[in-house]
Amino acid sequence: MSLLETRDLTGFYGDFQALFGVDITLSEGETVAVIGANGAGKTTLMRSISGVITQAPGMVRFDGREIGALPPDEIMALGIAVVPEGRKLFPSLSVEENLMMGCHRRKVAGPWSLDTVYGLFPILKERRHQPGTALSGGQQQMVSIGRALMSNPRVLLCDEISLGLAPVVIKDIYAAFPQIRETGASVVVVEQDVGQAMKVADRVYCMMEGRVTLSGRPSDLSREAIHDAYFGAA
Ligand code: ATP
Repeated sequence: MSLLETRDLTGFYGDFQALFGVDITLSEGETVAVIGANGAGKTTLMRSISGVITQAPGMVRFDGREIGALPPDEIMALGIAVVPEGRKLFPSLSVEENLMMGCHRRKVAGPWSLDTVYGLFPILKERRHQPGTALSGGQQQMVSIGRALMSNPRVLLCDEISLGLAPVVIKDIYAAFPQIRETGASVVVVEQDVGQAMKVADRVYCMMEGRVTLSGRPSDLSREAIHDAYFGAA
């Protein structure tokens, strides 16, 4: 059984329909990537899972339970943590205070604590008393990932963590993912960087215009098939 699944998921902003029958599944311990161009619907999918957009019954299930109608704080308390697009650090708080905000709503024992997050991203320990927003973009992204891990989530949803970062920084950040996986967390990464998605994921979903256009294991997907699913067949 899947840990997390969406079934025939639709998503609306007022009258505008952004998702059309999206089915995705995530198994325990699995890392899945969702790729697609600007506007494909990836963020809307993440918002539907994390409760920012309320969904009808039957459309989002987590650990055998309907969660589509729950508010974001309850979903986070169940064990789904989000690394939001744009990082969204608390500007008036230090690095350490930002990290601590991650376990405010969910205090469960698990592999992640300030110590282990600092072990994952040692630079954050050095900077722990500085305001989060004084850090470089890559370091802020580390804070955002660390903050999500602090809740010891069962599912980590990462929305476009490479956006606006230099390739070498992206590589550094993704270098942390094997360690995150080792703790047993299941992960969804939303990525426009297809190469990065292929490297990190067990399975990939490609979206275009609100629909899943391709899915499979990276080794089973040809470059041509991905190109067509991403941009549309010529
Ligand atoms: P991006 O890489 O730009 O974040 P995306 O794949 O995450 O793209 P979404 O942000 O989910 O795509 O957007 C899907 C569609 O919904 C787009 O056509 C977008 O313009 C529209 N959309 C997104 N957010 C809103 C909103 N708050 N109000 C109205 N339309 C929106």
